[in-house]
Amino acid sequence: MKKISIVIPAYNEEGNLSLIHSEIRKVFQTLTDYNYEIIFVNDGSRDHTQQHLEKLALECHEVKYIEFSRNFGHQNAVKAGMDYADGNAVISMDADLQHPPILIPDMIRKWEEGFDIVYTIRKYSKNISFFKRKTSDFFYHILSGLSDVELEKGSSDFRLLDASVVEVIRRTGESDIFLRGLVKWIGFRQYSIDFVAADRFSGVSKYSFGKMLRFAFTGITAFSVKPLYLAAYLGFFFSFLSPVVYFVYVFYSFYNESEISGWASLIMTVVFFGGLQLTILGILGIYMGKIFKQIKDRPTYIVRSKNF
Ligand code: UDP
Ligand code: MG
Repeated sequence: MKKISIVIPAYNEEGNLSLIHSEIRKVFQTLTDYNYEIIFVNDGSRDHTQQHLEKLALECHEVKYIEFSRNFGHQNAVKAGMDYADGNAVISMDADLQHPPILIPDMIRKWEEGFDIVYTIRKYSKNISFFKRKTSDFFYHILSGLSDVELEKGSSDFRLLDASVVEVIRRTGESDIFLRGLVKWIGFRQYSIDFVAADRFSGVSKYSFGKMLRFAFTGITAFSVKPLYLAAYLGFFFSFLSPVVYFVYVFYSFYNESEISGWASLIMTVVFFGGLQLTILGILGIYMGKIFKQIKDRPTYIVRSKNF
């Protein structure tokens, strides 16, 4: 009998756990040809997520949990679940029921047809804020333009991976993991399914604007060195452009016999190039930070306890 592992990262999700569990259980009652396990990864929750998980695990043998020593972030939580999953396929999904469990049979069917990766594209429900929609679209636009992986708008972390793909991900020792990009980059035979994201059932979104921005930078710099080239191009461009512009300006004022007070142009130049330099330093800094993290080679998560 084939086994499906469901991986669910949970950060302060006490209000969602029993519902997501019962929904998944309902789905597998129709999939009698498969064994399954649900691996919850408690990513350092500050509410009663852990107590709920321990209780659930006592009642139901298919429920497993991994408790982190602190919050390590959504991507690392999913990665941990994959590290410990032993199914023939692994499905990752959110705890808040925004990823409809009803799609699981379709994903499994496509997998059985021979696809190694079945990923999902989120279409918006009406209730997603205009701001989140626009910033998310903008992110995928920039990422696709800047990097060599083609990420579709609305790519989500709700996906099925064949065990062979999971093995590849396990072996990548990337410190700043960005699964959506990595999975696309891996190749294999991929199939995509559209879905409309439901509203979060209970609790609030854990992605604040700041976290989303950091996530965007992680994604872009994990899959592209183009920003580094951008820095070089900009530098070149302006060091050629400015003498030309200044030559015209000097020539013009000479011709006009106008007094060159010089202040305005000077301050503009200083401000402009100051900004340019800071931008370029910033880009270099982000990549250096990555090298720094990678070279320390710290674990990407620490397990405090687990029940298997
Ligand atoms: N999550 C996590 N660690 C974090 C932030 C989020 O494990 O630091 C989990 C969260 O519990 C949920 C999933 O990642 O299961 C997606 O988070 P959320 O629903 O807050 O994101 P959104 O849907 O608003 O983008
Ligand atoms: Mg959510």
